Amino acid sequence: MPPSLHDLTFDQVTRLLTEEGLRPAHAKTLWNTLQYRSMTDPLARPDLAPPLRRWLEQALSGGAWTLDTPAVTSDVPSSDGLTRKALLKLTDAQEIETVIMGYEGRHTACISTQAGCAMGCVFCATGQMGFVRHLRPGEIVAQVHHARRVLADEGKHLRNLVFMGMGEPLHNYDAVMTALDIITHTSGINIGPSKVSISTVGVVPGIRRLAEEGRPYNLAVSLHAASDEERGAIVPANAKWPLAELLDACREYNARTGRRIFFAWTLIAGVNDSPEHARRVAALLHGLDAHVNLIPLNRTPGYAGEESADEAADEFHRILQSAGFPCTIRQRRGIDVAAGCGQLRAEKQRSRAGRTAAGASSALLPA
Ligand code: SF4
Repeated sequence: MPPSLHDLTFDQVTRLLTEEGLRPAHAKTLWNTLQYRSMTDPLARPDLAPPLRRWLEQALSGGAWTLDTPAVTSDVPSSDGLTRKALLKLTDAQEIETVIMGYEGRHTACISTQAGCAMGCVFCATGQMGFVRHLRPGEIVAQVHHARRVLADEGKHLRNLVFMGMGEPLHNYDAVMTALDIITHTSGINIGPSKVSISTVGVVPGIRRLAEEGRPYNLAVSLHAASDEERGAIVPANAKWPLAELLDACREYNARTGRRIFFAWTLIAGVNDSPEHARRVAALLHGLDAHVNLIPLNRTPGYAGEESADEAADEFHRILQSAGFPCTIRQRRGIDVAAGCGQLRAEKQRSRAGRTAAGASSALLPA
């Protein structure tokens, strides 16, 4: 497949077009069309300068470049109207999820960075499906354009991004950072870096690299357990990057960037939601500039765990707050649209497989 114009940053678009004999103003127009206006077909813009139109027609029809806009194969609103989950089909038929969540006065999109995931967290539908491939920068940015179009139709704006969808963002570091260079560019989508959160299961080299490069995004680390033994049972990546190493990288991140880290703790009844667990988290995070975000488990068919009772969540919250940590309990959103990452894609695959199996078995029935 030819390279995609969607994968290019502003500087790369400018370099490409000037090398092709066009002017920087043409690069600005192309960038404005693709990244500010979110147009899928730049040739549909009637006011394109003739040299830019000619170059685009030749580059796209001659196969030097492509523009690959994913097709929306499913777009499901939750019954409370606050969450919308879409499945986007990529050129190789891989499907990824993008979620739009509405909060008081703001909208947030939850973005996928890989098809599948190699990290294998046991409670996660994406982890249960395994790793397929990394997404390219343009495939990551396409999800933001999708969310912008959906919200623009309702007269609303996208303000925040969380990289918490399918995949581990720091396992696809370069593509995610290039996508963010595109997304935060002030003459394009222009989402402020402080409105972007990158969530990791604890990929230590990625955390260290974020700190070294001084990337201005928020960092969320999924902790879920306060001992290697307990964490290893639900987060297999802990075997590669154990807690001591992870927390060391977090301390370095705090020190080098001066930024607070958001630690996510998925509350699973009887597994990690006791008052003793809460006291151990507080001890583990002692000295770090940390905010703890408690997340009620989204049940998945591949994992038997259940969400904690409200009383257990409230007590956990109280203990962390009295230990001096800012702590929040995440609102449950979009349960009826399979809002946990990977759940919608997994449900669609099961229902397609079910239809295929039903078709196959009825074909075996005597006429
Ligand atoms: S929780 Fe995140 S890192 Fe873990 S398997 Fe799911 S997508 Fe991957």
